[in-house]
Amino acid sequence: MAFKFKGVDFIGFDSLLTDDERLARDTARQFIEDNLIPIIEECNREGRFPRELVPQMGQLGFFGANLHGYGCAGMSNVEYGLVMQEFERGDSGVRSFVSVQSALVMYPIYTFGSDEQKDYWLPKLATGEKLGCFGLTEPDFGSNPGGMRTRAVKSGDDYILNGEKMWITSGTISDVAVIWAKVKENNGSDDNLDGEKVRGFLVETDRPGFSAYDVHGKWSLRASVTSGLSLQDVRIPAKNLMPGTGGLKSPLMCLNQARYGIAWGAIGAAMACYDTALQYSLLRKQFRDQPIASHQLIQEKLTWMITEITKAQLLILQVGRLKDAGSVDHQHISMAKRNNVWMALECARLARDILGGNGITDDYPVMRHMMNLESVKTYEGTHDIHTLIIGQSVTGIPAY
Ligand SMILES: Cc1cc2nc3c(=O)[nH]c(=O)nc-3n(C[C@H](O)[C@H](O)[C@H](O)COP(=O)(O)OP(=O)(O)OC[C@H]3O[C@@H](n4cnc5c(N)ncnc54)[C@H](O)[C@@H]3O)c2cc1C
Repeated sequence: MAFKFKGVDFIGFDSLLTDDERLARDTARQFIEDNLIPIIEECNREGRFPRELVPQMGQLGFFGANLHGYGCAGMSNVEYGLVMQEFERGDSGVRSFVSVQSALVMYPIYTFGSDEQKDYWLPKLATGEKLGCFGLTEPDFGSNPGGMRTRAVKSGDDYILNGEKMWITSGTISDVAVIWAKVKENNGSDDNLDGEKVRGFLVETDRPGFSAYDVHGKWSLRASVTSGLSLQDVRIPAKNLMPGTGGLKSPLMCLNQARYGIAWGAIGAAMACYDTALQYSLLRKQFRDQPIASHQLIQEKLTWMITEITKAQLLILQVGRLKDAGSVDHQHISMAKRNNVWMALECARLARDILGGNGITDDYPVMRHMMNLESVKTYEGTHDIHTLIIGQSVTGIPAY
């Protein structure tokens, strides 16, 4: 018996938003309320991605929402963030799908792609007619992607790609994979990679030698597709190289976009958990026929949650304002991702506690959010890697 979401705004946060920002948030909220909330527990149980929602997501402008032109909605970064918040209030896995399509597939094509690549792919990705994935992580290289073994070798007018990618969101449902590979460059490397440079390629997933398989047995992000990719002598035309990519900095720029959305998204998951715990605690009675909300220890948990949600909202709003002003730095985004995901996971754990035994069932969304957030804490730079990024920023000393 899930509760109807009542919204979470303790200090008049909405008054800091423009009309357009509230409209973007409310449109996404309505979409999630009408379409995702009614089916998400069943999707999660079945380990099924709700692909039937993709066309409507495209129509409402949710893919590549903060990009301009090519059929994209041209939202501000704050508007886009608020949309991500609402998606993750629904489910982190579904938000992950939108993040990958937007920040990890459309953004690199938009930023590093040729005109031909942009004209062909972006309008189709914006409507959801085509889906994409982002292949950076490998079985042996996660936090340290610079160690990647995937190679692209020039052969006449083609490149031939070989390698394995792991933990790739949407891998088996994608039409195009953004594949990051090392290439020998005549003009040297800028990555200390022994004369090699990381470049980005657009690989159509029906090319011979490309295969994808799903990761099974996940307890987290069950409504999202997670895959491994294998590239065995995959031949692609040289024009599939994204010309603007050059070095590890390029995929890291993409990750920055996605991490920004995650920092908003985590607030959505936290809101869902807090709101559920609050409503439950007012109904559930224990001892002297009193609601558990009347007990001090329950109030302490709710107070912690609403305080941390409020601080997280203010942090990411400022980061979003900086991003819209063109003055955000990657360490600002690291702080927001690190703090907000940790905060959301703690909220989920506290909410689970408040719900008692009911907290472990999927009658309520709390345990699903908790399990999802374990992945969100790890992907897009683990919590500890963001600790090191912020540490380097304040001390000037890299400690990886
Ligand atoms: C559900 C899911 C979806 C994903 N989707 C994608 C995707 O679409 N595309 C993609 O490319 N990748 C994706 N990833 C991969 C994700 O980004 C990696 O899992 C992440 O980068 C961590 O890498 P790893 O799992 O190999 O862990 P590791 O790098 O092996 O880290 C293991 C532990 O060691 C710690 N650690 C590592 N190095 C240090 C250090 N120097 N100092 C201190 N601690 C350290 C980490 O913080 C972590 O706690 C996804 C992952 C998951 C789980």
